[in-house]
Amino acid sequence: MGLIIDGKAVSASVKERIKEETARLKEQGIEVGLAVVIVGEDPASKVYVRNKKKACEEVGFTSYEYALPESTTEEELLELVNRLNADDKVNGILVQLPLPKHLDDKVIINNILPEKDVDAFHPVNVGKIMIGDYSFLPCTPAGVMELIAATGVEIQGKECVVIGRSNIVGKPMAMLLLHKSGTVTICHSKTKDLKEVASRADILVAAVGKPKIITADYIKEGAVVIDVGMDRDENGKLCGDVDFENCKDKAGYITPVPGGVGPMTIAMLMQNTLTAAKVKNGIRSEEPTAPRKERAMSDWNKLFLHT
Ligand code: NAP
Repeated sequence: MGLIIDGKAVSASVKERIKEETARLKEQGIEVGLAVVIVGEDPASKVYVRNKKKACEEVGFTSYEYALPESTTEEELLELVNRLNADDKVNGILVQLPLPKHLDDKVIINNILPEKDVDAFHPVNVGKIMIGDYSFLPCTPAGVMELIAATGVEIQGKECVVIGRSNIVGKPMAMLLLHKSGTVTICHSKTKDLKEVASRADILVAAVGKPKIITADYIKEGAVVIDVGMDRDENGKLCGDVDFENCKDKAGYITPVPGGVGPMTIAMLMQNTLTAAKVKNGIRSEEPTAPRKERAMSDWNKLFLHT
């Protein structure tokens, strides 16, 4: 029986760390602020924005919310972005995607100052991730790195397989694993024998968007299996790319959906916003995803669900 990595517990421990640091910054007169911009009425986006605001309150950041109508023009949105770029109280700017069809995501993202781009989607930040000289890590892959770190499994020298090559998950995920000296293979829809490649992985990250396509015969005995997928099964129930019930006995560590990667994404957004505030104030940032070797056994146990 593999250990089930409790994303909520890992996320809570990350947010606790951020909260402590934020309180220390406050003592030095430094406030951390995140601006979240939402355009239109997309219900899923509204939930995400609400959760981000709640997370800001939890860790002690000031959140600035801008809810703009669906009819907002590119010019109006850019005007707001420029105003937030110039606002000293705002350390991070997040424009909730997807934007309504008449607005071009790329144009908007490219106008956010890279040092305030806490989603790490700006080409400057994407390039920095490539060369390993980054302040911000893209939130979902960074969350995955935290979950792997929580297992205590070293990435160096391990066979790592990432399934999916999107710009926001698969590609940066592979880069982060490579920077940790994993031997990384990226799979996609044209990969010839996915089962054969995936089953070589000591660390398998699935970011496909297809419900339960990864079954036990795709995984190596004892592997770390991280499921990024947020899919719906045949009954409309939230599930991942990994067939959890089928794989949990073969994996060494496995994330559930929900309750795995999902809670980590917002925690890492908070981490990036804190980093932005520290960089702006000339305070050195420690690497957020170092393996937690020093964690006491009792604390370590809290990061896993026991069935
Ligand atoms: P995406 O842009 O649609 O990319 C999916 C990737 O999977 C593509 O590279 C695609 O290959 C590959 N793929 C599709 N079918 C495949 C197959 N049968 N075998 C192998 N590879 C296959 O999706 P995304 O934005 O990366 O998101 C992936 C999943 O993660 C989705 O379920 C999404 O909801 C979830 N997600 C979760 C979070 C979170 O916070 N938990 C955040 C972001 C995304 P091609 O490139 O060849 O088409």
